[in-house]
Amino acid sequence: MDAEGIIPVAFARPGLCDSDSLMMHPGKVVVLGAGLTGVGTALELAARGVHVTLVDRDERPLNRASLRNEGKIHLGFLYANDGSLASADLQLRGGLRFRQLLAGWIGTAANTLQRSTPFWYLVANDSLLSPDELSAHYASVEALYTAYVKEDAALDYLGDRPRRLWLRADIDPFFRADRFQGAFRTAELAIDTDGLASLLRDAVASSSYVRFLPGHRVHAVDRRHGLLYVEGSSPGGAWKIAADQVVNALWGQRLAIDRTAGLPVDPGWVHRLKYRVIASLPAQLRQAPSATVVLGRYGDVVVRPNGTAYLSWYPSAMRGWTHELAPPPAWDAPCRGEVAADEASGIAREFLRAIDAWYPGIAESGVVQVDAGAILAQGRTDVDDPASALHQRSRIGVVSVDGYHSVEPGKLTTAPLVAVQAAASVMGIPVAI
Ligand SMILES: Cc1cc2nc3c(=O)[nH]c(=O)nc-3n(C[C@H](O)[C@H](O)[C@H](O)COP(=O)(O)OP(=O)(O)OC[C@H]3O[C@@H](n4cnc5c(N)ncnc54)[C@H](O)[C@@H]3O)c2cc1C
Repeated sequence: MDAEGIIPVAFARPGLCDSDSLMMHPGKVVVLGAGLTGVGTALELAARGVHVTLVDRDERPLNRASLRNEGKIHLGFLYANDGSLASADLQLRGGLRFRQLLAGWIGTAANTLQRSTPFWYLVANDSLLSPDELSAHYASVEALYTAYVKEDAALDYLGDRPRRLWLRADIDPFFRADRFQGAFRTAELAIDTDGLASLLRDAVASSSYVRFLPGHRVHAVDRRHGLLYVEGSSPGGAWKIAADQVVNALWGQRLAIDRTAGLPVDPGWVHRLKYRVIASLPAQLRQAPSATVVLGRYGDVVVRPNGTAYLSWYPSAMRGWTHELAPPPAWDAPCRGEVAADEASGIAREFLRAIDAWYPGIAESGVVQVDAGAILAQGRTDVDDPASALHQRSRIGVVSVDGYHSVEPGKLTTAPLVAVQAAASVMGIPVAI
């Protein structure tokens, strides 16, 4: 830190930048937030020879939503209620480039991520959409998939190119048939988010282009005399960083920091606090199918190869909702993985009971972990309202104003796609996603 309390930021040497004459010199770059979006942006810039300072309030990268989520790499099936197909199309494109983009940052280790058993989509008796309506959506997704993979030989879905993405099927005996009006077998998978986090933490630690500042909470970004000043606090006291360009990849706190930087914030955003339970499965369910119940306030079971499962049951999992610019401080502890033992066992009990009613045997699982994540999305009403904007995830990407880049990743699936867009914006060559 210098005499004015400003942390010096490494400068990108011009000779290291791409020789494209249209490309602007990126200058001093600071990335706020070390989730998949921020880490991806930093590693993408590093791969282009740009030095980056990466700032996070936590002690390690990928300690929040990018760790504490379901890990599903979407193909677009879940967004069947967005009739425009825009949300499904974006998820599909994110899914088909997920492994490839990750490989650009962590090499062939991207091929080693553990994958779940494939998902069944189970149509609840009171689903917002009927099995026929869902079939029509899935057929449209498949048509997009077929066109994309035909056009681009580099695309794959977590290392494979499945011949078919879905099939209408009789309800598998693993599930309670009387709970559902239909079922689909799909090629959709989830990845192991612990493995993802561990690989990306190693990549950050070993990059000579990325300087990670842990324990640095960002309070504001201020523009003065042609520079951007990032201000915050840490256990060591207040700090300030001067930068030519700032990437805001804070997700849960993105809107609040955008406001301090003078960016207008669109109305209609909602933060939801969603819990998850990681359980150890009884022996008879260790190879069982993963499942997503559609379409409404239902849940998921993700069967992972290490004998554990991710469990979610929306009516019990969704425990916070706010239209404020940032989530309340009370959400912070569960989003860091700190949940009091009695609360954790109460939540786990509710999940196991509710899921066992349609996935018999789940109640015999042991509880390994209970934690939560804050989800930012557009929406004024919940997912059981067919008109809710929560059924659309197409308002994602980068908004750039004079070197300040606000990044909305939408989902884990699309975060790498959007991180590459953020890095391109920093290089002065904005790309569409
Ligand atoms: C329960 C749950 C299940 C989900 N399931 C899926 C799924 O199956 N598939 C899918 O595609 N998506 C899923 N998602 C969404 C997905 O997790 C997120 O879209 C994605 O992880 C966002 O990545 P991110 O890097 O933008 O955010 P984060 O991972 O949250 O990273 C933001 C970073 O910013 C830091 N930060 C925030 N504020 C400050 C501050 N003021 N100062 C300093 N640092 C700060 C945080 O500590 C954090 O490290 C799920 C989310 C949840 C919560």
